[in-house]
Amino acid sequence: MRIDADIIILAGGFGQRLRHVVSETQKVMAPVCGRPFLQYVLDAAIAQGARRFVLAVGYKWEQIRDCFGDAYNGAEIVYSLEQTPLGTGGAIRQAMEQCQTEDVIVLNGDTFFDADLTELLRRHRERGAEITLTLKPMTDFDRYGTVTTDENGKITGFHEKKPVKAGLINGGVYALRRETMQKMPEGPFSFEKAVLEPLTLTSFGMVCDGYFIDIGIPADYFRAQTEIPLRFGQTVFRAAFLDRDGVINKEKRHLWKIEDFEFIDGAPRAIERLREQGYLIIVVTNQAGVAKGFYTEEDIAALHGYIKEQLKDTAYIDAIYYCPYHPRGQVEAYRKDSRDRKPGPGMIERAVADFAAKGMTIDLKRSMIVGDTERDIETGINAGIGRKILVRSGHAIDESATKADEIVDSLADVTG
Ligand SMILES: [Mg+2]
Repeated sequence: MRIDADIIILAGGFGQRLRHVVSETQKVMAPVCGRPFLQYVLDAAIAQGARRFVLAVGYKWEQIRDCFGDAYNGAEIVYSLEQTPLGTGGAIRQAMEQCQTEDVIVLNGDTFFDADLTELLRRHRERGAEITLTLKPMTDFDRYGTVTTDENGKITGFHEKKPVKAGLINGGVYALRRETMQKMPEGPFSFEKAVLEPLTLTSFGMVCDGYFIDIGIPADYFRAQTEIPLRFGQTVFRAAFLDRDGVINKEKRHLWKIEDFEFIDGAPRAIERLREQGYLIIVVTNQAGVAKGFYTEEDIAALHGYIKEQLKDTAYIDAIYYCPYHPRGQVEAYRKDSRDRKPGPGMIERAVADFAAKGMTIDLKRSMIVGDTERDIETGINAGIGRKILVRSGHAIDESATKADEIVDSLADVTG
């Protein structure tokens, strides 16, 4: 089935909020599991029958053209380049010049919203609307404004951001008539402020409860790395199993105090880079200090909470496993042998089982383990992990005796 409307994708923004995460990349080209985010947006629309796209581009637009050219996956792609910033409204108005259909669908290139585009067009035409917005129901949120409608779906108001229990947000997917935008004055303007919010046009809403994610928000961008591939049917993932001390943070004997914690240079960025390439990030760390009575599991939980908080805007760790046991520990409850204690493969096996429960298969042969001791390398061998990488950033290592496949200075040098 073919959608008989051209699709404009707003792909000009430089992603202020995401900038420190993917500074060199055009926002819609931000990597998600090894592919540009825009590719998923295009794929989803093409799967629904879209055949012609007008990409409204500006900042670093060459990255987009070099990737997709003038055709992608059976669809035609043309570019509407803004020479000076036009705002969302000006960008849509300019892109309309290149559209060939009377009704046009507009998508925000930095959000993914699984809305039924054929149904959107059908309702838009049936009601004779000038604009039809997709509306996404959300609960317990404060980062979006809300939209209200009457019982016929006619838009009655846009409301500022504030904490909301339940409401509808603008899904960023619109159907509109080409002539509606052509009536707007040239130059920069905001589509939201100048076109939607004054309610001078006949505007309707269509509620869709499809999957929605906004990669302009770091936490959503990190979530997208696994959620989007899963939605596109990917079930097999690679994992980077990372030792903690000496790999992510500086090795300090029996580290447990937050004030003693220090990231190794480049480690947070390296973690995010691996994740963007499609690796799950799983920390596996021996913490025999619990069995030895130096600190408690509560201390570990506090430290791991601190690490995740520190990484909040820069990187994401999928899971952390630790082993508190030691066969000669002073604390009786923790004095035992454990398959979890590296070089035992227990923590890796638990991770495989836990992710399988979420519908994700970890392909150990294509996964990696990174550690600063030979014990980490042996763990990789015992668990059947394909790539075993020793780093020089922690304990002293014997490079002549290691069974590692690779030796690098630090996590920052590990390539995906
Ligand atoms: Mg270590």
